[in-house]
Amino acid sequence: MSIREIVKMGNPVLREVAEDFSAEEIKSTETKGLLEDMWDSLKASGGIGLAAPQIGISKQLAIIKLSSESDRYPDMEDSETFVIFNPKISVIDDNEQGFWEGCLSIPGLRGYVERPRKIRVDFLDENAEQRSIETENFLATVFQHEIDHLHGTLYVERMKDITTLMFEEEMIVEESKDEHLD
Ligand code: ZN
Repeated sequence: MSIREIVKMGNPVLREVAEDFSAEEIKSTETKGLLEDMWDSLKASGGIGLAAPQIGISKQLAIIKLSSESDRYPDMEDSETFVIFNPKISVIDDNEQGFWEGCLSIPGLRGYVERPRKIRVDFLDENAEQRSIETENFLATVFQHEIDHLHGTLYVERMKDITTLMFEEEMIVEESKDEHLD
């Protein structure tokens, strides 16, 4: 187990379309070790989601866990733990909702991003079994943010109004927009 360095915007790996896992790869010892490192790295950073490309590995894997213990997100409630291999998104409700997003690969900044409110995610779990979940509201945004990482997209490209890009210490947090992301 070890904490991996998180690569930052400008690193080419964050612009690649990540490769799918095979079922054999998912069940391998190497992948189990990778997952342990990803959880360690996520916990150390106080984030709520991490995609493999963020530790320099261009593979279709992301982990998500909303945590009430996160220093970055003091008012958040715990969620389930999600490990998603080869995820695919289908939009269920394309009405958009906005949140202030952040990213461990873009430290210190936040930007306001609107995304579809409700989605379905089809993916393979840790046993390489096909799974499908429906998710909405903030958690739906977290899934979309992480899955974007697997296609070389960062939240800043999703912003409609670039003037909302700002440093955390300059932010005047509004009640209705006080949720942040990874
Ligand atoms: Zn991110």
